[in-house]
Amino acid sequence: MKPNSTWIGTLLHEFGHSVYDRYKDFNLPFVVRDPAHTFTTEAIAMMFGRFSSNPQWLKDNAGISEDEKKKIADNCFKTLRLDQLVFSRWAQVMYHFEKSMYENPDQDLNQLWWDMVEKYQLLKRPEGRNEPDWATKIHIATVPCYYHNYLMGELLASQLYAYIVTNVIKSEDFKLQSFTNNKAVGDYLKTKIFMPANMYYWNDMIEKATGEKLTAKYYAKQFVK
Ligand SMILES: [Zn+2]
Repeated sequence: MKPNSTWIGTLLHEFGHSVYDRYKDFNLPFVVRDPAHTFTTEAIAMMFGRFSSNPQWLKDNAGISEDEKKKIADNCFKTLRLDQLVFSRWAQVMYHFEKSMYENPDQDLNQLWWDMVEKYQLLKRPEGRNEPDWATKIHIATVPCYYHNYLMGELLASQLYAYIVTNVIKSEDFKLQSFTNNKAVGDYLKTKIFMPANMYYWNDMIEKATGEKLTAKYYAKQFVK
């Protein structure tokens, strides 16, 4: 580990998974003592991971000054938004490539891959290239039909964050929040997300916790507008 933004982002992400598991209700039967879905634990991890580029979090935890916080705030947000939007396009390539590949495995997959890259990432294929570039993406072979979980996790991270800022912290500032030492946020996450573990179908758990089923609305509000 190194004292930099990447590593604090990774730590916050993994600690997010940890608290989810730590605070599940251990009185529940063993078979439901898991997150509601793979992407719901990703969502918690991602929500915390995003704090590595949050100026308020850096002030509360890394000790930067109020002046420094103000100075970097705009760049911090732009960095996070860029990460999110670039990833959202890449996730589309993976999802639509796999969907089409399983629908019609005999088609020209080399071409399909670059068709998707051009369509969703707006990149140009290298001229005259006809190689199985898609096969270099390990998820296609090792975790098939999984990639959408990452983007669903990001959607839920935004939905939970918006709910917490509005209803638990009761603020209208969606940028300068850190959750640091905020017991009410911890209590909310414990009782509504972690403790129910896998008792409910994931979309029912989300509705019980936020009043709505999973929606892209808050992700769009936060990063696209
Ligand atoms: Zn993760």
